[in-house]
Amino acid sequence: MPDGEVLLDVSGLSVRFPTSDGVVNAVDDLSFQVRRGETFGIVGESGSGKSVTNLALLGLLNRRAANIEGTALFKGRDLLTMPPGELRRIRGKEIAMIFQDPFACLHPMYRVGDQLVEAIRAHERVPRRQAAERAIEVLAAVGIPKPRERFRDYPHQYSGGMRQRAMIAMALLLNPDVLIADEPTTALDVTVQAQILELIDRVKKEFDIAVVLITHDLGVVAEVAQTVMVMYAGRAMEQGPRQQVFGKPLHPYTWGLLESIPHVDQKVSRLVPIEGAPPSLIFVPPGCPFHPRCPHRFGPCDQKRPEFRDRGGGHAEACHLSADEKRTLWAERQERFTRAAV
Ligand code: SF4
Repeated sequence: MPDGEVLLDVSGLSVRFPTSDGVVNAVDDLSFQVRRGETFGIVGESGSGKSVTNLALLGLLNRRAANIEGTALFKGRDLLTMPPGELRRIRGKEIAMIFQDPFACLHPMYRVGDQLVEAIRAHERVPRRQAAERAIEVLAAVGIPKPRERFRDYPHQYSGGMRQRAMIAMALLLNPDVLIADEPTTALDVTVQAQILELIDRVKKEFDIAVVLITHDLGVVAEVAQTVMVMYAGRAMEQGPRQQVFGKPLHPYTWGLLESIPHVDQKVSRLVPIEGAPPSLIFVPPGCPFHPRCPHRFGPCDQKRPEFRDRGGGHAEACHLSADEKRTLWAERQERFTRAAV
């Protein structure tokens, strides 16, 4: 388990949105910690609740529109109850974000350098020249070639990968403690995606920060995360160190996800999608929310909610199957899967 300082401590987080069609149960009783020096990967299909979790971490949930329970502590202060002014100061400075689309951060009509300088001066009283030097340093740190020259370019003069790097530079300008990356590589081709993941991993170490990586792609978290949380229907299904979740997965939903991504290290080319679709968050199935799609469901699965419990070493999951049953079933699935692929 990572042993750095706990920067984010989310406990019992539930978020419900009342709508005219019914109550949307977006997040249901989520608890996790993110420590300095680690990348915490949150993975799930769309509608799994990962985006609402992200909004909670950014303090962007509107308490008038949502019923929120639990706490989301950042260095001991609750982001869910903090006054808006304090939240604005933290967001962008102590908790920074990057998105799938760099134009969410970079205005197309202004030079990249000017935008970086203004971002620094919005939070710190420093002379323009000093802010420009800091911006050029950070552009160099994220691998922009000839940063002093490229400082004067407009975003459209950068390639897609360079825009992504510039956005990461923007996020790092004010020395944040936490970087939240929401699907940061989804729009990029595979080569650039690998470079950006490598960069995120490098800046995490160089800047000694925590990264929260939110993605639908289990392959992405496999590359860089130290801790992984798998979400489904607003709940955590499995959580633990990457080696455990990928090496000895305990939950049938994780098994399904693993069988549906390519494994470059295995001679397996056949991918098996999980049958069915995630449920509506207004009509979450009773008991285990995965039961309508689970090939291993049995007696209690459609009645009783499985408890999310630590099975040792920080590896937790929510499933009614016993440890022995899981071991046997996972071994059988792996054998079947490998046989089908050759
Ligand atoms: Fe499948 Fe039941 Fe486990 Fe849910 S609790 S994952 S339905 S076996």
